[in-house]
Amino acid sequence: MKAILVHAFGGPEVLKLEEVPTPKPGAGQVLVRIHAAGVNPYDTYMRAGTYAIKPSLPYTPGSDAAGVIEAIGESVKKVKPGDRVYTARTVTGAYAEYALALEGQVHELPEKISFGQGAGVWVPYGTAYHALYHSAQAHASETVLVHGASGGVGSAAVQISRAMGLTIFGTAGTQKGIDLVKREGAHQVFDHSKAGYQEEIMKATGGRGVDIILEMLANVNLAADLKLLALNGRVIIIGNRGEISINPRDLMQRRASARGFTLWGITPGEEADIHAGLIAGLRNGTLCPVVAKELPLAEAARAHKEVLEPGAAGKIVLIA
Ligand code: NAP
Repeated sequence: MKAILVHAFGGPEVLKLEEVPTPKPGAGQVLVRIHAAGVNPYDTYMRAGTYAIKPSLPYTPGSDAAGVIEAIGESVKKVKPGDRVYTARTVTGAYAEYALALEGQVHELPEKISFGQGAGVWVPYGTAYHALYHSAQAHASETVLVHGASGGVGSAAVQISRAMGLTIFGTAGTQKGIDLVKREGAHQVFDHSKAGYQEEIMKATGGRGVDIILEMLANVNLAADLKLLALNGRVIIIGNRGEISINPRDLMQRRASARGFTLWGITPGEEADIHAGLIAGLRNGTLCPVVAKELPLAEAARAHKEVLEPGAAGKIVLIA
């Protein structure tokens, strides 16, 4: 089978398409014929060797894929060959034609969701779901600012917030992104590349501030976010690429909080809750992943460059 291999940490050019033996599922494992693999920003941090989790080399990147069960190992009960699934992590890596996964790492992919869309489920939707339900404990009567709503996590967060009944403000940095965020359900959209947009957001809340901010770039926005919060507001830090200084008084005055998480640190109970919520939403049509671009597996290096560039419009996926 063909798979992307990383033999040394480095730039996108270390992603090499190679021919490797197709693995065989052991007890409790399944073999998935991957049709599409999702490209997430953390895949690039891991490839560069700068992420908290450093895989042993060589490795095949990717946790998010969608495909069909090809074969099952002993004692597997949850799925059978021919079932459509999305993966939430794998054993051997998602940027490949086939991947081994544990039985618990594969989940039903409803018929109406394409493989390209299914590759954009786990990290983006799992993160957005955890941020809104578990971390922010959002309520329908609240307002949420999805700060960076045009990308994978942001567009997922807009759809989930809409299904929960919240009032949604979103931001994007291009007209294409702004149109997408509106289309996916935000009530008002602002351009985070324009000076003064935070004042426009505050004005849109009538000076009250927002209850929840889902932050995709905390090292740039956190200090200003704290000033945008309503009483008892909370910032949920999802993305961060550096350091920033804040004035804690902004939190004190508002009885507010800022908290963060990584999807890798959630509990098994939270993960079960997330998949139940996501599969229900994918089935009933409230959740519908937005695919920005499909590239062949051989162009993984290009995908790694483009996922970090401005102008997001949903997910970049690799077709295997
Ligand atoms: P993505 O698809 O590349 O999207 C990036 C988003 O950030 C886009 O909406 C982009 O908007 C926006 N952005 C750019 N400049 C911004 C600014 N100044 N202010 C606010 N937003 C800005 O990435 P993603 O998959 O959605 O992930 C977003 C971030 O969360 C990444 O840093 C990722 O590593 C992190 N993340 C963390 C977890 C976790 O477990 N904590 C899980 C998933 C992702 P434009 O392109 O329109 O400017």
